[in-house]
Amino acid sequence: MMTEPAPTYPDRAPRKSDLIIVGAGVMGSWTAFWAQHGGAGPAGAAGGNRSVILLDAWGTGHPRATSGDETRLIYNAHGSDRLYQDFSRRSRDHWIRFSAEWEVELFVQSGTFFFAHRDNAWEKISADALAKQSIPFEMVSPEDLVQRWPQLGTGGDLRFALYEPQGGVLMARRACQAITRAFQREGGVYSVAAVRPGKSDGHRLLDVVDASGRTWSSDTFVFACGPWLPHLFPRELGEFIKVTKQDVVYIGLPEGDRRFHAEALPGWVDQDAYYYGVPAIDDRGFKIGLNRFGPVFDPSNGERVVDPDSVQLVRRYLPDRFPDLVSRPVVETRVCQYETTSDETFLIDHHPAFDNVWLVGGGSGRGFKHGPRIGEYVVTRLDGAAEGAEHGGEEARFRLATRGNRYERDTGLGDGMAATWKVF
Ligand SMILES: Cc1cc2nc3c(=O)[nH]c(=O)nc-3n(C[C@H](O)[C@H](O)[C@H](O)COP(=O)(O)OP(=O)(O)OC[C@H]3O[C@@H](n4cnc5c(N)ncnc54)[C@H](O)[C@@H]3O)c2cc1C
Repeated sequence: MMTEPAPTYPDRAPRKSDLIIVGAGVMGSWTAFWAQHGGAGPAGAAGGNRSVILLDAWGTGHPRATSGDETRLIYNAHGSDRLYQDFSRRSRDHWIRFSAEWEVELFVQSGTFFFAHRDNAWEKISADALAKQSIPFEMVSPEDLVQRWPQLGTGGDLRFALYEPQGGVLMARRACQAITRAFQREGGVYSVAAVRPGKSDGHRLLDVVDASGRTWSSDTFVFACGPWLPHLFPRELGEFIKVTKQDVVYIGLPEGDRRFHAEALPGWVDQDAYYYGVPAIDDRGFKIGLNRFGPVFDPSNGERVVDPDSVQLVRRYLPDRFPDLVSRPVVETRVCQYETTSDETFLIDHHPAFDNVWLVGGGSGRGFKHGPRIGEYVVTRLDGAAEGAEHGGEEARFRLATRGNRYERDTGLGDGMAATWKVF
């Protein structure tokens, strides 16, 4: 498998099309690909037969984008949520299919763990739901866990691990580049431009415009702008999507030690402890993220320097689960952001004022894996599929209007991380 060079874009690209997609993160690039290529939807009949322009302010998979990190986890466990289970399962098929077709390694099947601290909690509910769909999984006791993966520790009241052998890791930044290049090969036009809504006529947007006054006109527009959506549409989304700083730490591995690499260790999520991690890939460090809301963050101008508290918090976790990494150094850090909706569910809906504008985003810390299916779903809707055509009433969750700006659980949004963590 090859790695993928960054896509290039022409100086004088067309500025008129049937569909403009603003934002070339995972959601926008997959939407653009399906719209241009065709073959989306359960019958493989949606998309195609239109000219598509994909615009991004900095370029696909750039370091400020939420999709711009190196890796993201993919798994099927979603509690009792059948819709998201279906979304991730179908997305996994697409990730595998297009990795092979494009000859780029986008999916590493390392398996995934969910570490459970209670017997009948989310992990058990997920296991029951996986069983119903015949998706392979194992419930691994702490004793079996350390026998099979001796590099793990079982501290912190570990009750069992839900192991999904078909789970794994997606190569995030590389994927955005690969999807965008595939879109270009299908005849799609990709340009770097930061745009906002321009002229309108009644309930129709006519064009988007950049700071220098250049315009791009189209019949239909999709804004898939991740954490920038509330900045572009402050009235509609300013209170609905919150953007928070999320720190990630990479721990350096012992010399010559492959036990923490993807061929030897699954990706993992420890929900109750608020950590997740990705085994080493491409000889990078062992990634540990804090699955807890950090302070409110500006994705354009926020300084991407991790809080020393984050490093301390990671160090507090290591003795329980990865005791051999306790004295290992931090070799890299990264700051990303969550763009979280009021109920942590994706947003896929018309703009309330424009019939020909769609808003797509609200990944809420979990959207990457679903990218292929989200793009496919958007394209079926653009082609005229009614809401509910595929998943019945479950699809209503994506609407803007049915949800308030009230956060369903105490997310701690806006608070500094150190102040809200129990350990301080
Ligand atoms: C630390 C961290 C860990 C995560 N882990 C996982 C995981 O393990 N698994 C998982 O599935 N998900 C995970 N997620 C969530 C996932 O990464 C996001 O849900 C997903 O990447 C969001 O993609 P997006 O396309 O909506 O946004 P983005 O990737 O941010 O893309 C939006 C794009 O829009 C462009 N844009 C914005 N405004 C404009 C404008 N005015 N003009 C032109 N372009 C514009 C931006 O430049 C950007 O490229 C994680 C997120 C974080 C932060």
